[in-house]
Amino acid sequence: MTPTDTTPDKPVSDVIVIGAGIMSATLAVLLKALDPALTIAGYERLDAVAAESSDAWNNAGTGHSAFCELNYTPERPDGSIDIGKADKIAEQFELSKQFWASLVQEGVLPDPASFIQSIPHMSFVWGAANVEYLRKRHAALLRSPLFQGMEFSEDPAQIAAWIPLVMDGRDPATPVAATRMAMGTDVNFGALTSSMYHYVKGLPGVNFQLGHEVEDFRRKDDGIWRLKVRNVATGESRIVRGRFVFIGAGGGTLTLLEKTDIPEANGFGGFPVSGQWLKCQNPAVIARHEAKVYGKPAVGSPPMSMPHLDTRQINGQKELLFGPYAGFSTKFLKQGSYTDLFRSIELGNIRPLLFAGARNLGLTRYLIGQVLQSPQDRTAALREYYPTANPADWQLEVAGQRVQVIKKDKKAGGVLEFGTEMVTSADGSMAALLGASPGASTAVAIMLDLVQKCFPERAASPEWQARFRALVPSFGQKLAPNPALTAAVRERSRQALQLEH
Ligand SMILES: Cc1cc2nc3c(=O)[nH]c(=O)nc-3n(C[C@H](O)[C@H](O)[C@H](O)COP(=O)(O)OP(=O)(O)OC[C@H]3O[C@@H](n4cnc5c(N)ncnc54)[C@H](O)[C@@H]3O)c2cc1C
Repeated sequence: MTPTDTTPDKPVSDVIVIGAGIMSATLAVLLKALDPALTIAGYERLDAVAAESSDAWNNAGTGHSAFCELNYTPERPDGSIDIGKADKIAEQFELSKQFWASLVQEGVLPDPASFIQSIPHMSFVWGAANVEYLRKRHAALLRSPLFQGMEFSEDPAQIAAWIPLVMDGRDPATPVAATRMAMGTDVNFGALTSSMYHYVKGLPGVNFQLGHEVEDFRRKDDGIWRLKVRNVATGESRIVRGRFVFIGAGGGTLTLLEKTDIPEANGFGGFPVSGQWLKCQNPAVIARHEAKVYGKPAVGSPPMSMPHLDTRQINGQKELLFGPYAGFSTKFLKQGSYTDLFRSIELGNIRPLLFAGARNLGLTRYLIGQVLQSPQDRTAALREYYPTANPADWQLEVAGQRVQVIKKDKKAGGVLEFGTEMVTSADGSMAALLGASPGASTAVAIMLDLVQKCFPERAASPEWQARFRALVPSFGQKLAPNPALTAAVRERSRQALQLEH
């Protein structure tokens, strides 16, 4: 149903954000920091903040810096290692840390230990070919200032000292190698999101409502967006108005974007990938691991299903997770509906969907294999990283839902992407974030881009430029070619966020 504006005299918010995950929270805090006079309204369908992908138990909490994720450093056909993507991801996470550090310094965020901790990021591989790849990757990364300090070892005794669980009971005849970056981080994105909401909702001109679902959009000639918002508890709908709208609805973004009727939304589709973890229940085992250990993804698997054995800090407690095991569900949100995928199919995206599907049969086969896994299969996967694991120590948990982006492509008809895609309307009055990787870690980089795209004149003004640099000192500069700047911003973040490294 199209919204009808029955309340033309109601106030018009400068900004409306949809969804109470890390993306909307980051944007709201950033905009209020740039211009405290902006009015912001926010709507979240659930009764809690950060209850979908941003919740600590629904994601892996890795501060993605490309220290340990092998998919960001592919091997070229000539055998050399491409570190371009790794540099970009590492830079983006440094922007996040700088922003969070400023928020801590300004008293916006509480004790940093409530949301970020130092934890070594490690890659671990076995077999001669993989050992050779890791050695080359390490050498290539050391040429960038962003990866200084990364250690490499092929010595089983050294690796056992770093990660005893991974080496206990391992066949000594198989060659192994590991890299270790002490300055890795574990982030509780749920706690961080909640803190940002708690702060921003108390500011003048901000009105956030939980339990309110955005259902439809309409724009009149006056350029103002009308959103139909339903109170989930009472079923009552009303129209709210805003000059700029951000759709930060996570997996729910695609369905909403399609309803905006902006031409830029045409041709996008979504492919849901669900996830599961094994969560360790044995405190003695949890105590023996002190790292995030990422391995090589299985052949044919999507990049985000790289197995990892992860130390986490959640609500003051040390935890240990293994996974994720990928799966398939037609839901776009963990608390969504099984009809989500079918409702997202339109005339404009059916061609890209079909072409992307036909080109990714390997992925489909992989996901079916994952869905059919027995508990024994899951234990076998865990034992590749922790050979002496006892299945009785581990409990299966459902992780968050991701919706991978399918895009129109002139040559291929449609392509499946594993990154994030910001869709903005030509006039900058509407922005939506599709996709999920590398995700929460890059929220600040994504929102800095959004603000410059959608508020171009104000973003270029001396006031906003100065504020950008106060919040993110390296704003507008590249870190990879600048070792002194990299070291300076890292030290500032380390101190403010009270990180060990
Ligand atoms: C298994 C898994 C592991 C991950 N691991 C990592 C990791 O290690 N590091 C990392 O950086 N990132 C990771 N991510 C990605 C990261 O979790 C997401 O990128 C990030 O949380 C997305 O935030 P968001 O605000 O866009 O979405 P969400 O947190 O999902 O928030 C969207 C909100 O919008 C609400 N909503 C939906 N529809 C409507 C509507 N119509 N009206 C009102 N509200 C609506 C939802 O209820 C939800 O609260 C992982 C994700 C998954 C699933």
